[in-house]
Amino acid sequence: MRVAAIIPAAGIGRRMRQNLPKQYLTLGGRPLLAITLSIFEQLPEITEITVVAQPAALQYCQQQVIAPFGFKKVLRLVPGGKERQDSVYNALKVLQRQNDWDLYLVHDGVRPFVTPGEVRRVLQAAVQHGAAILACPAQDTVKRVTKAGVIQQTLNRREIWLAQTPQVFQAAILWRAFVEAYGRDFYGTDEASLVEALGLPVYVEPGSPLNMKITTPEDLILAAAIHEARERSQQCPPAA
Ligand code: C5P
Repeated sequence: MRVAAIIPAAGIGRRMRQNLPKQYLTLGGRPLLAITLSIFEQLPEITEITVVAQPAALQYCQQQVIAPFGFKKVLRLVPGGKERQDSVYNALKVLQRQNDWDLYLVHDGVRPFVTPGEVRRVLQAAVQHGAAILACPAQDTVKRVTKAGVIQQTLNRREIWLAQTPQVFQAAILWRAFVEAYGRDFYGTDEASLVEALGLPVYVEPGSPLNMKITTPEDLILAAAIHEARERSQQCPPAA
């Protein structure tokens, strides 16, 4: 099976309020993007990886992330677009030229804590159903709120899931979803929403809240704690 991983990392990270985009901030001496890439580099199920970087940061990404950490599966570095969707589309257009992919897997460059087990589960679900994403059941009660700050609706928490990545699709399905979305000028904040618009079912595989998207300075504090805990557990000798 041929699986192309696409890692969008072309955001400018406005919400992080730092000069360096968040994907290049470091944890334990490694850029977040390098930590994310190492997960997919190590998984035998992943055939190759396409990284999407800001057009002005292509050289930086190559020299500071891809080359120094020796990623062998990162075969393509593609310039990103204005929105996340544009960035993923740029990668898909390049991959479609080859057109021999079974699955496309999309994972945010700033989600460095997904586990190999979670990636495998969502891959298996996509093989079985054609479209699957990792997601987490909501723990908080979710409200729809007006611009004036008044609650309009309380959503049924039992039905609310928070979408994460990886999001994995049969290659032909994802390509059709993108082509149709651009045909209708539709923009979604994840790939699943484009596939949903085709009327196709997208399955949800339960994930962990630790698979967080690092977006704000507060997230970095949590991320440092998760990273440290993971490093410590890897150093511990196995229990007798
Ligand atoms: O903006 P958001 O937090 O949804 O970004 C999720 C991922 O998409 C990040 O890894 C970010 O770098 C990437 N992105 C992108 N191109 C954009 C905007 C975001 O590749 N134009």
